[in-house]
Amino acid sequence: MSAIIQPVEIVVPDEFRYLYVQNDERPVVKVPAPCLRTVCQPVQKVSKKTQELIDRLIAVMRKANGIGLAAPQLGVTQRVIVIAPEGMRPLAFVNPVILSMEGEQVGQEGCLSIPGLYGDVKRAAAIELRALDRKGRPVQYRMEGLPARVVQHEVDHLDGVLFTDKVDPATLRWMHPDGEPDTP
Ligand code: ZN
Repeated sequence: MSAIIQPVEIVVPDEFRYLYVQNDERPVVKVPAPCLRTVCQPVQKVSKKTQELIDRLIAVMRKANGIGLAAPQLGVTQRVIVIAPEGMRPLAFVNPVILSMEGEQVGQEGCLSIPGLYGDVKRAAAIELRALDRKGRPVQYRMEGLPARVVQHEVDHLDGVLFTDKVDPATLRWMHPDGEPDTP
């Protein structure tokens, strides 16, 4: 069990403020938007609307060079995430549930909703994930390494949890995100 620590207060340095503007060019919702601290609702039925949401999530994730995105990051408080594992087509998960976690890994994370801020987060090394796919069919995956990390980060978003809640505060650093493609 890890100790309960106070959430990190995010103070954006002036030189990074331009990243926090939200517009058509940068549609991802940024902190401190309340939708990022909301427990999202399960999708009752996977519909055309859900598929449109998934397509939008994938398009925005790609444009932002992200490797994962959760619906609340587009202001939609529903339990839908997408991830882009290296060398694979993006995967969409509706109502994802992490069934089991194994081992641990520590690695750097960032977040498109907290652009410019990075830090080391301890996550499970491997997970078992159950969800519905974009057509509403049940799927189950075992994931390790980076995809497992990204899914844990995105599922946290669905519960209003940000990586800064779990980061090792001593490792937090601000960096310009250009040239940092691995940002879930
Ligand atoms: Zn994130």
